[in-house]
Amino acid sequence: MKAAVYQGNQKLVIEELPVPEPGPGEVLVKISHSAICGTDVHAFLYDIAPAGAVMGHEFSGRVAAVGPGVTAWKEGDRVIGGGGTPPSGMEAPLRRQEQYNYRLEGFTDTRKRGYAEYTLLNDWAPLGIPDNVTDLHASLTEPCSVAVRAVRLSNMKLGDVVAVLGAGPIGLLTIQAAKAAGARKVIVSEPSATRRDTAIKLGADAVVDPSKEDAIPAIINLSEGDGPHVVFECAAAPPTLDAALNMVRKKGNVMLVALAWESVPMLPVDWAGKEIQLNTTFGAEPYDWKVALDLISSGKIDLEPMILSTDFLALDGIQDAFESLIKPSTQVQMVVRF
Ligand SMILES: [Zn+2]
Repeated sequence: MKAAVYQGNQKLVIEELPVPEPGPGEVLVKISHSAICGTDVHAFLYDIAPAGAVMGHEFSGRVAAVGPGVTAWKEGDRVIGGGGTPPSGMEAPLRRQEQYNYRLEGFTDTRKRGYAEYTLLNDWAPLGIPDNVTDLHASLTEPCSVAVRAVRLSNMKLGDVVAVLGAGPIGLLTIQAAKAAGARKVIVSEPSATRRDTAIKLGADAVVDPSKEDAIPAIINLSEGDGPHVVFECAAAPPTLDAALNMVRKKGNVMLVALAWESVPMLPVDWAGKEIQLNTTFGAEPYDWKVALDLISSGKIDLEPMILSTDFLALDGIQDAFESLIKPSTQVQMVVRF
């Protein structure tokens, strides 16, 4: 099978690997779509993915074979590569450890995941795909679950004015999750015109171009002069966390969704007097995946406008795709199609 194997030094090479054999309790999945996640782009940019790893955790496909003892799945079942509930003891480290450092501990294994023609999963790991959800849309359940969790942990309430900083895939999904949860108005800040247009198509009420105007006063004005009740930081650009804290209203809530991998400047004396809540969210739990899949299946989250025809690539194009995504990008959601 073909797999995009990370070599170190921002280099992905397509290698021919043996198709893995499912062992006891494992299923072999033939991947149909694998979406490129910002997390993988960071692992590439900062060269922290270990050499030999095959990244990719946003994928869908079909069960190609099951190992001994597997009764939950059969060949041909359509599945999403995650979202199942791990048995006790099998949870990801960040869910088990009191102290977890994602930068130092998040990229340690060389498992062969979604940027390959086949991958192995534990039989508890996948979710089945509802009949009315395409394989393409199903591959985006993971980022959708991240947006669902961000909204669920944010204390956002029915009728709140919300700002979303950054309209990459997570920002675009957060706009829709916030709307589905009852936001009255969603204001988006995003420098790419393509992404701003997509934000409007997906229900944003107003957009701001932070490369042309100062997003802080612009968003405060658009929220009737008081600032948003909740700001979702989905950009991880150097100024955006401090901007979020500066624009949110008194007693408001800033939800940090995107992770900056470099120090970001902050001046707490500017905003500490507003007695703000700053919350963080990280990844998603199985329940968030189920909510995400319900929202996709019911049409409350629309994935079609997020995937432009130019966003598809073959596995062979993955090095170019990653190189384009480490620069300020105009692509919305790039997807490897097998
Ligand atoms: Zn992801």
